[in-house]
Amino acid sequence: MTTSVIPGPIDPPARLLMGPGPISAYPSVLRAMSAPLVGQYDPFMTAAMAETQELYRQVWATRNEATVLVDGTSRAGIEAAITSLVRPGDRVLVPIFGRFGHLLAEIAERAMAEVHTIETEWGQVFTPSAVEEAIVRVQPTLLALVQGDTSTTMNQPLGEIGEICRRHGVLFYSDATASLGGNDFEADAWGLDAATAGLQKCLGGPSGSSPITLSDRAVEVITSRKKVEAGIREPGDPSAPDFVRSNYFDLGMILDYWGPRRLNHHTEATSMLYGARECARVLLLEGRQQVIDRHRLAGDAMLAGVQGLGLEVFGDISHKMTNVVAVYIPEGVPGDAARQAMLDDFGIEIGTSFGPLHGKVWRIGTMGYNARKDAVLTTLAALEAVLRRFGASVPVGGGVDAAADLYAGK
Ligand SMILES: *Cc1c(COP(=O)(O)O)cnc(C)c1O
Repeated sequence: MTTSVIPGPIDPPARLLMGPGPISAYPSVLRAMSAPLVGQYDPFMTAAMAETQELYRQVWATRNEATVLVDGTSRAGIEAAITSLVRPGDRVLVPIFGRFGHLLAEIAERAMAEVHTIETEWGQVFTPSAVEEAIVRVQPTLLALVQGDTSTTMNQPLGEIGEICRRHGVLFYSDATASLGGNDFEADAWGLDAATAGLQKCLGGPSGSSPITLSDRAVEVITSRKKVEAGIREPGDPSAPDFVRSNYFDLGMILDYWGPRRLNHHTEATSMLYGARECARVLLLEGRQQVIDRHRLAGDAMLAGVQGLGLEVFGDISHKMTNVVAVYIPEGVPGDAARQAMLDDFGIEIGTSFGPLHGKVWRIGTMGYNARKDAVLTTLAALEAVLRRFGASVPVGGGVDAAADLYAGK
């Protein structure tokens, strides 16, 4: 018999997470998540769920009754939205400007939609007229569009898209995972029918809960689809085209669980609910606009800092997300080894990249709890030291000075 070695209790190293997400959580979010559990029908639980719904209505800037959490990481929300809104054979249009557009297209394909895509070069966004032209050509039932795509750092303007969708009778869904809380987002004013997010970006929590909001139009589509659950609901025919091909992600059932009927579906992930509630609570306590402004300031300071180090920035900066910047790895610097040195020697994580940008740029995030002056300056000081150690000639103090000047309003 072999003796197994029992590892010690979990004891992570100190890290400053300055990548494109996940990021270091607000301390109060971690505290909230260690609060005692209650039963899923405890009046306290029901009240906490209702409070969380109301908090997220404010975060999303919506009056949508159907504002809930989907248990799982951000893509659980994406999958729930698309799988529940799309019937097999429906046409779905996905404008792709980075990695996550490809994810939306893939999920729509798995939902058996007829998927049409348009693409733009990485580092760019779509104009409203390009989206409208494709809508007229494809005549989709759903437009699925990422807001902030961390793979390219671009923030797709959504303000005019909702009105275009309304005019053409198209449902409008956006994946705002990486942008919500740190960039403008107006679910109602922008005419969104569905939007989903995660906690591990600007909301400052761990991954594992996906806030979602649905317009009345979206809810109508969802509730018109056949419901099945053995023994409990009206029986449906699993071969019928209208059957949502997922139990876990059937938003009709999830809404019944969160709604006044509180029909049993899953068991709400209690600790994640506490965490999600606290993410929204700290955001609203500081002020929605104040938090966006803090992200913009930290993002501008990081941008000024990397430029002060002489680094070149990727993409159309006028459409950059507030909370992440992509910088070209200087000639001759080994990207992965330098990132590793940031982690090993300074305890700071910055991000690598995907697809066409792999090996070419690092992505540095300033979001949630880490959209802070000290986090920005510490990261720039460490980056300068690491770049110099790997042979790059960088201006002494150039990063910290430029960022500190920006913070000082110079
Ligand atoms: C980070 C990110 C996700 C992450 O999805 P997870 O399932 O939480 O890993 C999804 N969409 C976008 C746009 C993102 O930036």
